[in-house]
Amino acid sequence: MDVLIVDDDAITRFALCAALEEWGFIPVVAENADQALEKLATETTPHLLIIDWSMPGMSGPDLCKHIREREDGQFFYILMLTGKEGNEAIIEAMEAGADDFLSKPFDHRVLKVRIAAGSRIVRLEQTLNQLASRDALTQCWNRRMIDELFANSIAESTRKHSAFSLMVLDIDHFKAVNDTYGHAAGDTALKHMVNILNINLREYDQVGRYGGEEFVVLLPATDQNEAWGVAERIRSAIQFQPTILGDNRKIDLTVSIGIAEFDRNRDANQSAFFERADKALYTAKQTGRNRIVSSN
Ligand code: GH3
Ligand code: MG
Ligand code: MG
Repeated sequence: MDVLIVDDDAITRFALCAALEEWGFIPVVAENADQALEKLATETTPHLLIIDWSMPGMSGPDLCKHIREREDGQFFYILMLTGKEGNEAIIEAMEAGADDFLSKPFDHRVLKVRIAAGSRIVRLEQTLNQLASRDALTQCWNRRMIDELFANSIAESTRKHSAFSLMVLDIDHFKAVNDTYGHAAGDTALKHMVNILNINLREYDQVGRYGGEEFVVLLPATDQNEAWGVAERIRSAIQFQPTILGDNRKIDLTVSIGIAEFDRNRDANQSAFFERADKALYTAKQTGRNRIVSSN
C-alpha cells in the first residue's frame, strides 16, 4: 500500500520513508501541500497520508480541510504528525479532518501500530467500495455505478462538445443456455462474454451489467459509425469464441446490440438517450438476433 508523506523537513521524510519501507509500505513523498495535492490528483493516489503541521505555504490542518472538501468521494486516512502537542492541537487537527494525531518526537513502535490501524481502515474502505460498485459475478461495473458513469459521460460530452455513444447488449436465447447446460455453466458463459468485451474495448470505455444478461457499454469520444465498428467486432468475437466448459463442452453464444450516439438537441436526459439505444436493441431482437441496430 502506498503512503504519502507530506513534510518540509528532509530528515523527517527520510526517516519516515525508511520506517515505512521496513514495514512493507511504499512511501510517496511531498515537501509541501501543493506537491501533495498533485500526488493526490493522480489515478494511483495514495489513500493513507502522514501530514506534518507546520510547512511553508499551506499548513497541515489547511491541507486536511482541502482534502475533505473534495467532491469525488475518494476516501483518505490522515495521520497528523507534528511537533505540536496537547489537547488543543489534537482538537484543531481532528476538526480540520485528521483521523489520528501523533506528536514528534515519536516512538517508532507507536507510529507502526497507528499506521497499521490506518491501513486496516483503508483496506476495509477499498473492499466496501469494490462491493458497492462491481458486479459480483463478472466484476464489471454494477448498475448503480454504470448509471453514475453514464451521467458523467453525458456531462463530459456536453461540456467538451465531444461525441459519446452507447451500446446496449443482450445475449440471445440465454434462457436456453441455462436450460441446456445448467445455471453454473450459464454463469461461466456470462464471465467469458465480459472478458471478450474487455479485450475488445479501449481502456476508457466502460462496461456495466444492467440486468441478468443485459449489458451497457459507454463509448466516450466515439460517434455512431465508430460505435458500429466496435459493436461489430464484439458481435463477431462473441459468435466465434465460444465458452469452453471444464468438461470440454462448448457454449455458443450470440448477442444483439442496440447503439445510439448522444444528441443534446434530441435527448432531453439520460433515460431518453438510453431508451433510443434500448429500442434499437429491441429491433435487433425482432429482426432475427445476432445483429446490430443503430438508433436513427
Ligand atoms: P432473448 O434472445 O429474447 O434475449 O432471450 P433470452 O432467453 O436471452 O431472454 P430472457 O429474458 O427470456 O431470459 C434471460 C435469461 O437469463 C433468464 C435467466 O435465467 C438468465 N439469467 C439472468 N441472470 C443470470 C445469471 O446471473 N446467471 C445465469 N446463469 N443466468 C442468468
Ligand atoms: Mg514542518
Ligand atoms: Mg437475452
